[in-house]
Amino acid sequence: MKYISTRGQSPALSFSQILLGGLAPDGGLYLPETYPQISDADLTTMRGMSYAELAYAILSRFVDDIPADDLRAIINETYCADVYAYTRQEQNAADITPILQLEDNLYLLSLSNGPTLAFKDMAMQLLGNLFEYVLTKEGKTTNILGATSGDTGSAAEYAMRGKKGIRVFMLSPHKKMSRFQTAQMFSLQDENIYNIAVNGVFDDCQDMVKAVSNDAAFKAQYKIGAVNSINWGRIVAQVVYYFKGYLAVTQNNAQKVSFSVPSGNFGNVCAGHIARMMGLPIDKLIVATNENDVLDEFFKTGVYSPRSSEKTYHTSSPSMDISKASNFERFVFDLVGRDSEKTRTLWSKVDNGNSFDLKADGYFEKIADYGFVSGSSSHASRMQTIREAQAKYHVVIDTHTADGLKVAWAYFDKQTPMVVLETALPAKFEEAIIESLGHAPERPSVLNGIENLPQRFTVMEASAEAIKAFIVENT
Ligand SMILES: *Cc1c(COP(=O)(O)O)cnc(C)c1O
Repeated sequence: MKYISTRGQSPALSFSQILLGGLAPDGGLYLPETYPQISDADLTTMRGMSYAELAYAILSRFVDDIPADDLRAIINETYCADVYAYTRQEQNAADITPILQLEDNLYLLSLSNGPTLAFKDMAMQLLGNLFEYVLTKEGKTTNILGATSGDTGSAAEYAMRGKKGIRVFMLSPHKKMSRFQTAQMFSLQDENIYNIAVNGVFDDCQDMVKAVSNDAAFKAQYKIGAVNSINWGRIVAQVVYYFKGYLAVTQNNAQKVSFSVPSGNFGNVCAGHIARMMGLPIDKLIVATNENDVLDEFFKTGVYSPRSSEKTYHTSSPSMDISKASNFERFVFDLVGRDSEKTRTLWSKVDNGNSFDLKADGYFEKIADYGFVSGSSSHASRMQTIREAQAKYHVVIDTHTADGLKVAWAYFDKQTPMVVLETALPAKFEEAIIESLGHAPERPSVLNGIENLPQRFTVMEASAEAIKAFIVENT
């Protein structure tokens, strides 16, 4: 299995070769040359599998340069009940992604039982173990540099803490994250984790990362790496739970299932698209956005019009506050028949700050063949959905998941099973739950008092020179 760039001007590489990198050298995103196909018999066999067995059955089709026994060991270490321990009372941690029935044919797939209470752990935990394995084997090290406004940074830190050959330098806007999110990250005492609180906003943090990445000499000398949402390893790990969710709510392979996915950078739902391309019987893939609705606009009109970062709204579902969807190019590449020249033309417009319209050239009609539909939510509708979910289903959901449920209701026909992906636990967004329900959500008891633990972080001015000097000093 080789990986190619959506822009067609980079050499094809193996899984381990693309694992530690980000964009392809031509600016494109990596995708497998072809999607491995799952037969009816394969799917039947998968019905009896544990999460780890299923993960191996799927990932081994994408990874052919890690020996089978090693890959199996990495997966078994990643997907075990100890790691995904924050399960709701009535659910079984051994399921890794337990399913909760809300009503007839409507389900919630719990993806947020990992250490940072958000679905990003599902892929990031695997990435941490894969990184350590590949780096150790090749005798290499890496310094991961990232910017976060919350979920990504904490998921990366909890995945990389204590890992050999890896340091993490994570920039976050000083005093701008919730107390809980800050405590989650800053209470880590591991020596290989560096929390840097930047005097500025999230965009300042991102600009510092970009400036360092654009300094090719520094980047090479200090082995700067990334774990952002375009990383192929993250996408492929997420394919697994679409299979798990499908198998959990069906009795036979003739049934189809729809998924509703709270979306920001299009990473999560991109994995659903790949599962569908592999032959998983998915009916609809529902892209649910918040007020930052670039994707909803595209799926309704065929126009992709990324916003400038000043026009990004700060919402009560902050992990979906994006101005452009960094994984979207992967889907469009498939939609235009894997025509890399066409993809290059479209993204030269995007990279110059413009939009593109797929209606004019006939591609927009093809979207239906891929099962995609979309919708969006507002602050008021998310608050209302949290209240309704509590009243109707006796379950407390977070604001991101509320966005997914709100849009799922609009497409739910009561016949086709519908799975809403739970992308965070409510405990992570306490303030919003108090606003909606008038009381705080339940918090996993071991996290009680996390805000009072000693914190380890460095305050820094928003300057690329400052972060470079800090990296030099600490490596
Ligand atoms: C990251 C995140 C999302 C958005 O996922 P994408 O892969 O960027 O589409 C949604 N909800 C939560 C809680 C997240 O952390």
